[in-house]
Amino acid sequence: VSTSISNLKITDIPAPKSKGYDVIKEYEKSNMKKTASFVVVGHVDAGKSTLMGRLLVELKYVEERTVEKYRRQAEKSGKQSFALAWVMDQRSEERERGVTIDIATNYFETEKTKFTILDAPGHQDFVPNMIAGASQADFAILVIDANTGAYEKGLKGQTKEHVLLLRSLGLQRIIVAVNKLDMVGWSKDRFDDINQEVMGFLTGLGFQAKNVDFIPISGLNGDNIVKPIEADSASWYKGNTLIQALEAYEPVTSQAIKKPFRMAVSEIFRSQQQGTTTLAGRIDAGTIQVGDALLIQPNAIPVYVKSVVIDKDSQEWAVVGQNVSLGLSGPDPLHVRVGDILCPYDNPIICTDTITIKAMAFEHIMPMPIDLHKGRLHIAGSIVSMVATLDKATGEVIKKKPKVIQPGGVARILIKLGEKVPLEAGQRVVIRSSGETIAAGLLE
Ligand code: GDP
Repeated sequence: VSTSISNLKITDIPAPKSKGYDVIKEYEKSNMKKTASFVVVGHVDAGKSTLMGRLLVELKYVEERTVEKYRRQAEKSGKQSFALAWVMDQRSEERERGVTIDIATNYFETEKTKFTILDAPGHQDFVPNMIAGASQADFAILVIDANTGAYEKGLKGQTKEHVLLLRSLGLQRIIVAVNKLDMVGWSKDRFDDINQEVMGFLTGLGFQAKNVDFIPISGLNGDNIVKPIEADSASWYKGNTLIQALEAYEPVTSQAIKKPFRMAVSEIFRSQQQGTTTLAGRIDAGTIQVGDALLIQPNAIPVYVKSVVIDKDSQEWAVVGQNVSLGLSGPDPLHVRVGDILCPYDNPIICTDTITIKAMAFEHIMPMPIDLHKGRLHIAGSIVSMVATLDKATGEVIKKKPKVIQPGGVARILIKLGEKVPLEAGQRVVIRSSGETIAAGLLE
C-alpha cells in the first residue's frame, strides 16, 4: 500500500545530526577549485575542434601518442589536418564524415579551475546540439578564422546565429579566439581589424565590451593556447594566453553560492540501507550539508540529507557546481523522477504550469503544441500567445501581440504546460515541436 506522497511530513522522519556549518565560509577556507563550463562556437572549419584538441594535449589530458594514432588514421583517409580535431570526438562514424556531431563533453583542470568543455560543432545540421551545450554553459569561446575573407562570411551566417542564441540564453562573457593567425603571418593589422569588427558586432547584439576578450592564437601550432607565442612576428602581442583568459573568468560560484539550494536530479539509486535513497546531480545553486531538510519538487516530498558523497568520498558539505550523490532519508524512490528539483524545505521552488519566456525563434512560432525542455526535464504544453516581439539587442518591445514570430526573431511568449513543474525566473529553456528545436531563451 503506497502512502500518499504529500501526507508525509518532515517531522515524520528522524532528523540526522547537523554540524551547522557556515558552508560559504568553509568553502572559502578550503581553497577548493572553482568550476566553469563553456561552449565553443563559430563557423564550420573555424578550427574549434582543433583548438580544443590542442588544449587537451597541452594540458596533458590527451597523450601525444593518441594524437599520433589519429594522425596516421587521418593520413590514410586523406584528411591529415583532422588529427587534432578527432581528439575531441573519437567516434568512428564521425571520423569517417570528418565532422564532430554530438556534444562531446570533456573536462580539464587548471591550477584554479575545473573546466567542462561543451563542444558545439559549427555544422548547420547540428544547431540543436549547440543549443543543448549553450543552455548549460557559463560562458563561450567564439572561434574566428583570421584567414583572409573567412571571418566576414562567418559573421553573417552561423556565427551570427550562434551568438544570438548565446545572447538569448543570457550568456554574458565571450572569449574570442582569433584563430589561424599563422596563416596571416601573425599580422597585427589583421588581428586589430577583426577585433574591431567583431567587437562592433557583439556590442551591437547587446554584449558588453568589458565581458569580451580577444586572443590571437593558432590552434594548429599551439600558439597562445597554453604557451605564449615566442616568434618575433608576434612580439606585438603582450596579452593573455587562452588559458589565462579562461582562468580569469569570474566563476558563477561567486554569485550562485549565495542563492537558495537547487539541484536537478540526474540519477536515482535505491540504497542497500533501509529507508535511504540516493539522488545524484550537479548542484545548480547554493550549498548543502549533512542534516539539511529538503523538499523534492514537484511532489513536495520532504527529506533529510544523511550523506554527501563527491567522487566516492563522504563529505560534510558541497557547493554549487559540484556533482554530488546525496543519501536521503524519507523518499520512496518510486515517487522521484529524473529532472525533479531538490530545494530547501523551508524555501522551496514553486511549481507552476503558466510561464512567460523571452526566447529567440529558430522556426515560425505561433500558438501551437510544444515540449518545454529544461535540463533533463521535458514537459508537454502549448504556446498560448505571443505577447510581443522584442528588439534583439535591447529587449525593448517592437510590436505587441504579433500573430507569428519569424525565424531569428526574439519574442516574449506565453506558455501553458500540461502539468505543474518546478520552474523559476532566469532559467534557460528550450522549446521543441515535432522533434525540432524551435526556440530557446530565458524564463521571466
Ligand atoms: P571546426 O569545424 O571549427 O571544428 O574546425 P576544425 O578544427 O575541424 O578545423 C578546420 C580546418 O582548419 C582543419 O583543416 C584544421 O587543420 C585547420 N586549422 C584549425 N586551426 C588552425 C590553425 O590555427 N592554423 C591553421 N593553419 N589551420 C588550422
